[in-house]
Amino acid sequence: MQGVLFVLLFSLSAAVASAVTVVAWRRRRSATAAGTVAVVSASTAIWSGTAVFGHLLAAPEMIALTGAAAMIAVSVMTAAYLCQSLAVADRGWRLSRRTALWLAVEPVLFTVVLLTDSRHRLVIASAGLGDGGNIVVHFGPLFWVHTAYGLALVAAATARLTRAWLHGPRAQRRLHGFVLLGNVPSLLGGGITLLGVTGTVESALFQVVAPLGFCLSAALTYWALVRLSLHELVPVTRTHLFDMISDVVVTADGSGRVLDVNPAAALLARRLTPDLPGRLVGLPITAVLGGTPIADRLEDGMEVSLTLTDARERTVDLDMRVSALNDSRGEPVGWAVVARDVTALNDQRRELQETNDRLHEQVATIEALRANLAEQAVRDTLTGLHNRRFLMESLQRQLRLAIPEGSPLSVALLDIDHFKQINDRYGHGAGDQVLSRFAKLVSGRIRQGDVVARYGGEEFVIVLPGATGEQALERVDALRAWVAAGRMPAAGRTLTVTFSAGVASLTGKQSPEELLHAADEALYEAKRAGRNQVKLAEAAPDPSAAAA
Ligand code: GH3
Ligand code: MG
Ligand code: MG
Repeated sequence: MQGVLFVLLFSLSAAVASAVTVVAWRRRRSATAAGTVAVVSASTAIWSGTAVFGHLLAAPEMIALTGAAAMIAVSVMTAAYLCQSLAVADRGWRLSRRTALWLAVEPVLFTVVLLTDSRHRLVIASAGLGDGGNIVVHFGPLFWVHTAYGLALVAAATARLTRAWLHGPRAQRRLHGFVLLGNVPSLLGGGITLLGVTGTVESALFQVVAPLGFCLSAALTYWALVRLSLHELVPVTRTHLFDMISDVVVTADGSGRVLDVNPAAALLARRLTPDLPGRLVGLPITAVLGGTPIADRLEDGMEVSLTLTDARERTVDLDMRVSALNDSRGEPVGWAVVARDVTALNDQRRELQETNDRLHEQVATIEALRANLAEQAVRDTLTGLHNRRFLMESLQRQLRLAIPEGSPLSVALLDIDHFKQINDRYGHGAGDQVLSRFAKLVSGRIRQGDVVARYGGEEFVIVLPGATGEQALERVDALRAWVAAGRMPAAGRTLTVTFSAGVASLTGKQSPEELLHAADEALYEAKRAGRNQVKLAEAAPDPSAAAA
């Protein structure tokens, strides 16, 4: 009865382990860990299978043979178990040839020792079926060396996983924790079976615990890998991303030789250089970029903007980024270059810039026109002097400054003498010439800060901020004398032009109109007194004083 149960349990273990082997093996290319899970479960399946055979055949020599096969399977399993833990702990881990050789040493030596065991009996001193149907074996010293080695590998694997669980990347902690937990059945089972096989505990069921534990662990580990690090087991995802991405992706080895290109990169390479060989792998990375050197030296994190010309003389703008590729130990192994075609974007930017520039020009033109219009509105067209409108505004501003500060300010109203006669004798055109010439003479003689304006007809006003009545009288009279002494060309002759003026100065809080009225009265006085002279107005009535 116990024998039947024994065979059933070992068969179950073999079946589960075989199933895990098949599914894990299929996915071995997507993750190293999946491959190692497959090897661990395959060894478990062989171990369980040999036990079933041993029991069914029940001949002593068969028991010895299947026992030997089981031991070799266990030997391979512990090595694979170590690899599995290393691969789960570090996703970048790969089985190097050196590690594989080291791990193969013990199983090979042990196999040799086992095959020659009948001569020296160093592994199995004696073996047979006990009364309860369990295999009773007496082991030699090499078995214990082998067992100690296996235990050391299992301990190393568990330590690595524990370290990864405690100190590894946060994102992987759940995976490491689950795999560690999943290994509990195999560790417990291994321990219990060791007790059973060595006869410490005489029960056949004890011997079956280990394979059951190991296949349960393999199944749990596989489940954890699939569930908790799915992306690593789905090989299509990364490859598809690489293929689908519209950015150009090129990887190169340390010497800058192309290792891989995505379709976008291949397309660009052939667009730039149509006669490239069919296989881009192995070419210098610059060949993929139309022969343009990216830089003298590639550097990690380097960002470059390139402008290339394709075979049809069209411009290609590329924004490129270089990243160093490192292996799991952090050693540099090559480069990844990712480039984006920004031609369309740059064209849009350029167009936008041009439109913007044109807009700025138009705004500047409009502004100049507006300023010109504004200037025209305050200028007299004939003389180019400021007009009466400007004068009134300007005088208003000057008074607002001068009155609170009590600063002196004077205005002079100038009127050309007998101007009507000039018009009458030499024509209106000559009169215009005289007006224009007179304006130039006056504006050329005034001081900075003074304002001269055409008040109307042949009348002009000078505003003299800072000048008292006497000072203004003196300056305007000097101007009068200078004009009178000069000769003015008009209508093909030289004329003598004189003017009379009235000066009024600020005495209180007069308005522009009041000041100009006072100046006009003084001007009238000057005319009456015989012209070609300047009169100072009597102190203009101060409205504030009058009110008081
Ligand atoms: P008075 O010495 O008393 O000032 O004599 P007047 O002849 O200068 O004075 P009146 O006011 O009699 O004449 C001014 C003349 O100025 C009348 C007008 O035809 C002329 N006039 C006004 N504006 C213009 C102008 O823009 N161009 C020309 N050519 N003549 C103008
Ligand atoms: Mg006049
Ligand atoms: Mg006049």
